[in-house]
Formats: sequence, C-alpha cells, structure tokens
Amino acid sequence: MTKEYTLHIAHLYGDLMNTYGDLGNILVLKYYGKKMGINVESQVVSLDEDFKSDDYDIAVFGGGQDFEQSIVSKDFQTKKDEIKKFIDSDGCLLAICGGYQLLGKYYIDAEGNKIPGIGVLDHYTEQQHDNRFIGDIKIKNKETGEVYHGFENHQGVTYTGNGERPLGDVEQGYGNNGADNAEGAIFKNVYCTYFHGPILARNNIIAKHILIKALKRRYPNDDFSEQEQIDVSESY
Ligand code: GLN
Repeated sequence: MTKEYTLHIAHLYGDLMNTYGDLGNILVLKYYGKKMGINVESQVVSLDEDFKSDDYDIAVFGGGQDFEQSIVSKDFQTKKDEIKKFIDSDGCLLAICGGYQLLGKYYIDAEGNKIPGIGVLDHYTEQQHDNRFIGDIKIKNKETGEVYHGFENHQGVTYTGNGERPLGDVEQGYGNNGADNAEGAIFKNVYCTYFHGPILARNNIIAKHILIKALKRRYPNDDFSEQEQIDVSESY
C-alpha cells in the first residue's frame, strides 16, 4: 500500500489579504499536490486566531490594501514568535506584496503612516511619492535560471537585508524598488515577492519547489523522487 501524505497550509489572514486572487496560490498547491498523491489541506488563520508553527507545513500570506494591512499589522505582532519558529525550522512560506512587506521591519503606506512589520526578515519598505509600480513583470532567478512572469501593483519600495537574496533579477518591470534590479526575497524556505497573477499559477515550478521542500521537511525519511518527476510544464 502506498503511504498517505498530508500537508497543512495556513492561509494567513486569507479573509483580509487576498489581492488579485492570491487565493489561487493555494488552489495551485492543492492541484499539484493531488498530482503528487498528497492531501493538501488549508485553513485560514486570521485575527485573534492562533498560528502554531508545528501544525503547518506551508504558510501563504497574500497581498492587501493599506487599510487591511494596518489592521493585520497589529494582530501579526501576536503571531511573531510562532512565525519565527516556523521559519527557523524550515517551514515554507509564500508571502505576496503586502504580506511580504509585513514580514519585514516596517511599511510606510501611501499616506506616510508607518505600519510595523514583525521583523522576522530584515527588509523594510519605504514610501513612493504619488506613484505606484503597476504592470507586467518578468524576472530571472540566478541560481536556477528559471524565468518567472507576474503582475505587480505596489506603492511601497522594499530594500532587502541580511540573509535575503532576490527571487529574481528584473528583466521587465520594477521589482522591489525600481532601482537595484532585484525582485522579491528568498530566506531559508521563505519566498517573498510582489508578483500577483497569482504567482504559482503562472510559475508552476515554484509550486513544485514548495511542495517538495514541505514534503521533505515533514517526512524526512522518505524518498520523493517520484513526486519530483511530476510535470508542471502546462501553461494557462
Ligand atoms: N498596500 C501595499 C502597497 O501598495 C501592498 C499592495 C499589494 O499587496 N498589492 O505597496
């Protein structure tokens, strides 16, 4: 009998942070999970709800408007220790745009208000004056050579810090700040990005990376070479 594998996703503030269908990222993880023979279950973890790092394999944190971010920012402080524990223990986390900003030190919103992040990653996000970065974006990851496509719409400009390397170098569009040619951040098994689209639907290979990493972490003694063969080349 083949063994049953289950992975648990925490959809952080899924009811408040879900710009441009970022929820689709979870659907894509479930879709490829099914192809790999894995049960992928997800649960929204929102305001006043506990995030327990041991309960989850993957966390997904979508983008959001400034107003929602200011509400989430306060609650997120109460989850800081468990999020840190999750990241330190190689949990997989996908953070988009507003979610990306809140994992860092702070975000200055369009009105100039400083919205605190939880600072588990070293980046910070400054304000642009009367401007947003909007449009299609294309980047290339230096380590894998993979090219990713997406759509960005953000006011904030992010500067990465200690231990963070970009998700990719910008080939078209703006990326983190429109100046240093970097887009997103990778830290341990955390993927941060400004890409909507949603990112995993347009860049299936990242969904595969996340699922394989999460499987290996949850079931360290098992062999996943079969799952690694799964074809993610279809496009939508
Ligand atoms: N409110 C943030 C900004 O404008 C994040 C936007 C988003 O998540 N799309 O930078």
